[in-house]
Amino acid sequence: MNMKPTNIILSCILSIWFVFLILVQPVSPQDASQPPSSISSTDDSSKEASSQGTQSQLEKEERLKKAIDYQRAKNIHHFVDQGYTLVFLVLFLFLGISAFFRRQIERITKKRFWVVAFYTLLFLVVVFIVGFPSSYYGFSLEHKFELSNQTFSQWLGEELKALLVLGIIALIAVEGIYLALRKAPRRWWIYVSVVFIFFTIVLVNLAPILIMPLFNVYTPLPAGELRDRLVKLSHKANVEVGDIFTMDMSKQTRKVNAMFTGLGNTKRIVLGDNLVKEFTPDEIEVVIAHEMGHNLLHHIWWGILFSSVLAGLGFFIIHLIGPRIITRFRNKLRIENMADVAGLPLILLIFIVYGIITMPISPAFSRHMERQADRFALEMTQNKEAFISTMDKLAYINLADPNPSPVIEFLLYDHPPISKRIKFAQEYEF
Ligand SMILES: [Zn+2]
Repeated sequence: MNMKPTNIILSCILSIWFVFLILVQPVSPQDASQPPSSISSTDDSSKEASSQGTQSQLEKEERLKKAIDYQRAKNIHHFVDQGYTLVFLVLFLFLGISAFFRRQIERITKKRFWVVAFYTLLFLVVVFIVGFPSSYYGFSLEHKFELSNQTFSQWLGEELKALLVLGIIALIAVEGIYLALRKAPRRWWIYVSVVFIFFTIVLVNLAPILIMPLFNVYTPLPAGELRDRLVKLSHKANVEVGDIFTMDMSKQTRKVNAMFTGLGNTKRIVLGDNLVKEFTPDEIEVVIAHEMGHNLLHHIWWGILFSSVLAGLGFFIIHLIGPRIITRFRNKLRIENMADVAGLPLILLIFIVYGIITMPISPAFSRHMERQADRFALEMTQNKEAFISTMDKLAYINLADPNPSPVIEFLLYDHPPISKRIKFAQEYEF
């Protein structure tokens, strides 16, 4: 072969990435048959909002155009960031930088445990620095579209905090993987897959009480009319109201959101404070009913099962092709074998390429669960109007593109696009 292997791999990766970039085409505003029909206001009556004059119509159209621009910029950023990460990992491996790092660490200690620990931390810091321009671009995009409420220093503080949390989780995970690689070179991927499931369950359980409070303050929804209504709704759904919390999401963003999170004793529904402020009680009821649907249909467990299968298959693929790549490019990589921690970026690289190939699977699975939760919300509330105005407000405030291109929906959307959610409600028969 005349061409250097590094060049072949690089050009393959670049062309995959380029195809994705071309696919990220904007949808023309004319295609958007469902422009958001209400505006964000603290006004309790969505009817009033929709009967406002032509200026509001103009405002809606401008907002829609802005949403399309925002989503296009975000999609392009997503794929550029992915391509950038791949190129970085390839260069880091094939220029021998990874092996160089490991050799330097071995000058301090030869103990496997500490080599893995120091390498992991060093690698994370390098990834953070190299990825910083891309992260910063993401932050500036939120500002450009007037969605962020954070100053640069607040944002940076949170990024560093997240790095610290990730560092602790990564240390445990990487030490576990390399212990398995050293002790069971043939069957490591089975042990790692099994431990992955338990590790994920523990993380999902602990996240609401250990990790999430590091970034936001969570307050139980205070007693009052809203809480009473939601308790009534939970009786109707025959579920325990559990814990309904609000979080001070407005310190980071102007967007609104709600989620169902936790596992077992930490299960909870969380509402962003913006949502409580901007949405009517009827609309909040729709949101809560949707989240109750996730709870009742055991979506967190399904998600864990799904990601475990996907990750298990990923570990198996790494086991199959990792050693071949190490042997084939021995001179360039200078990685001894799979149990050499300098191969960590290779494991990541294979995982990311695997993730690109299987990219549409996770969002499709998620869209299916979201549709189920929407159906549950409609059944529970029997209130189509509130459901539709909730969707309209979500799109308006969050700058969601109600009608993304089908390719983008297929690859990236973990919820059905707003226009489809509205159409689903319009056509729903009780
Ligand atoms: Zn949902």
